[in-house]
Amino acid sequence: MKLAVYTKAGQVGLTEINRPQIEAPNDAIIRIVRTCVCGSDLWHYRNPDIEKGHQNSGHEAIGIVEETGDAVTTVKPGDFVIAPFTHGCGECDACRAGFDGTCDRHIGNNWSDGVQAEYMRFEYANWALIKIPGQPSDYTEGMLKSLLTLADVMPTGYHAARVADVKPGDKVVVIGDGAVGQCAVIAAKMRGASQIVLMSRHEDRQKMALESGATAVIAERGEEGIAKVREILGGGADVALECVGTEAAVDQALGVLHNGGRMGFVGVPHYNNRALGSTFAQNITVAGGAASVTTYDKQILLKAVLDGDINPGRVFTKSYRLDEIDQAYQDMDERKTIKSMIVFD
Ligand SMILES: [Zn+2]
Ligand SMILES: [Zn+2]
Repeated sequence: MKLAVYTKAGQVGLTEINRPQIEAPNDAIIRIVRTCVCGSDLWHYRNPDIEKGHQNSGHEAIGIVEETGDAVTTVKPGDFVIAPFTHGCGECDACRAGFDGTCDRHIGNNWSDGVQAEYMRFEYANWALIKIPGQPSDYTEGMLKSLLTLADVMPTGYHAARVADVKPGDKVVVIGDGAVGQCAVIAAKMRGASQIVLMSRHEDRQKMALESGATAVIAERGEEGIAKVREILGGGADVALECVGTEAAVDQALGVLHNGGRMGFVGVPHYNNRALGSTFAQNITVAGGAASVTTYDKQILLKAVLDGDINPGRVFTKSYRLDEIDQAYQDMDERKTIKSMIVFD
């Protein structure tokens, strides 16, 4: 089968490898129907030290179950499923508390990778996979896009809002206008925020967020951006959702909050100088980490997509075939698309 690999900084190519096999009783082999490029993949793509042939970090897919291990009883070959980027066991304390993105059974993180490929092996399939009713041919392309967001970006945006406890009436600021930021806007609206301000300098992304429930967009950054938020909200925000992962984004999030506010962060941190205690003087609640993809999909998000209540699939503004994977990365890196989807026949 074909698998995307990083060939050098700024370049992705395909290699031919054997199809993955069942290795553990709780594994499933999935034939991929749609996958995509993640904002987090771009960190590897741009890395000047990436070694040739390094497996892609792609981790979001929907597909058809081909084969299951002996312990898998919840899905069977032929089922259409969401393959979350995380692999919760569903039984440990973390999973039971609704934090399957950081399942206790895993040491370190529990992310998929190598999913920009024709097939994948999915661990902890029995609990973590989410069955989608029917078959791909039952859905429009727009609906398939929304179902694909349920593997990562929509639950990730939702996670920021959940850990920051967005409640009805809250004033929320979203930092980051990429796919996760767009989904965080949707999530804030689902949870009843009365005002949702997106920090964004790109017209197409501003427009998308306004259609999803944002009540204002602010192009300014830094101190100027913070002043503008306070002007629009008539004071500080109750909640800031940080969906980027840089120090500047964290500063922006902390800066817009009133004392006692809450920050949810889901941007994979590319900083390491935030000491516990740095928010003491403002009494700010800080929470974040990998999303509880399976929990949110099963409890709320799959139904919201199937009912047409939310349309997160709009973040996929361009589609490619697997042999166009290099272009898919390049266009996303150059902001020609918000998120690149890979389509299989
Ligand atoms: Zn992702
Ligand atoms: Zn677990």
